[in-house]
Amino acid sequence: MKHLVLVILFSISCSVFAHNHQVQYDSLVEVYYTSAKKFMETKQYDSAHARFKELFKLKSIIPDEAAYYYGLNQFYRAKYKPAQQGFEKYIRLRGDKGALFDSSVYYIARSQCYEKGYVEEKQECTLCHGTSHSKIKCLKCKGVGKEYCSICSGSGVIISRGNMGDSYQKCYKCEGTGITLCSVCNGTTFQDGDCPQCKGKGFVLVRKECK
Ligand SMILES: [Zn+2]
Ligand SMILES: [Zn+2]
Ligand SMILES: [Zn+2]
Repeated sequence: MKHLVLVILFSISCSVFAHNHQVQYDSLVEVYYTSAKKFMETKQYDSAHARFKELFKLKSIIPDEAAYYYGLNQFYRAKYKPAQQGFEKYIRLRGDKGALFDSSVYYIARSQCYEKGYVEEKQECTLCHGTSHSKIKCLKCKGVGKEYCSICSGSGVIISRGNMGDSYQKCYKCEGTGITLCSVCNGTTFQDGDCPQCKGKGFVLVRKECK
């Protein structure tokens, strides 16, 4: 059963949707799509599902709304994960201007409630304000701002071997201290990195109670 679901998810993500363009649909597309919706009207959700499967298998362009109705049909079949997949696909195709946008958002929330008992909502990360990166403690120097000099390896002296014996010179880079500013943060102790609060996603998922 699990395998079957995966195959269907695969086919919906591989299908070619109209993407809000005016197109003349193949006659087979019309046949399967109309028949799927007819089955839904008479609450024959498994038969409708079989039609959607046929529809997604076609190599032709299919209407964006088919993603929504596929989701809705899966919702009625109590298959809440693929249901969400369908609604989310519709939203990706049409954005928030799509006629079925509000309805998709509603059913995604309902599906999550039935599946997990709570709704997850994306909220802009308060730390990075959605930019997904922020100043974090420098990873190279761990926030110290300094590192051992790369020329003298922290000894403060440069040794040059010659015929007359070794000569010792104060390191020109660190001026004999053995320590230089961190090469990553240049002594600021901070660097730009993935925001630690949202792990670089720009948003956090907030759990909400189901009404
Ligand atoms: Zn963030
Ligand atoms: Zn040095
Ligand atoms: Zn540093």
